[in-house]
Amino acid sequence: MPELSAAELGAVQVPELICSVDGLSRQPGTSKQLTIDFEAPAVIGTAVIGVPEGEPVELELLLESVLEGVLTTGTVRTTAVGECGRCLEEVGVPVVATFQELFQYPERAWGPPQADQGADEDRFEVVDDTIDLNRPVTDAVVLSLPFSPLCRDDCEGLCPDCGARLADQPGHGHQSVDARWAVLEEMLEDEREEI
Ligand SMILES: [Zn+2]
Ligand SMILES: [Zn+2]
Repeated sequence: MPELSAAELGAVQVPELICSVDGLSRQPGTSKQLTIDFEAPAVIGTAVIGVPEGEPVELELLLESVLEGVLTTGTVRTTAVGECGRCLEEVGVPVVATFQELFQYPERAWGPPQADQGADEDRFEVVDDTIDLNRPVTDAVVLSLPFSPLCRDDCEGLCPDCGARLADQPGHGHQSVDARWAVLEEMLEDEREEI
């Protein structure tokens, strides 16, 4: 599942999520709070459950200037849509995802400057007084999604015989099942007698 998040969705950038930290950078101790509203640029998640393209997403953000860079703390609120793992009914799942990332000033970052392409993807940097929140936001949302959503905790699922959604049909059952079993049993008994 994680392969879906960064690599594929990284290609679809939300411009609103590239934030200026002008006025914060190089001034440890200062901070600013802001809220960014945007629409999901593509499905965030998997085929089973994800935030649909165009769904409104709200990001509450706290940016704090620290010695090494800008510490970002975010809360993402949106709604994911998925299929109930038992009855396949469409379910809306409220998403509240949080993240905290340090965007480092490049010259103060650890490690050799060029030798880590791909090896250290978890490091974020302040670039030209801006920070790119696309990946932290996407990753936080993907990680917060339930593995297999349910329309309700006690969903009874589908009838194993006809596929009817049991929640829609209280007392649903099949008489014919018993009849079929009876026929099978008779056949088995006949076989036994023949042996
Ligand atoms: Zn269900
Ligand atoms: Zn049935």
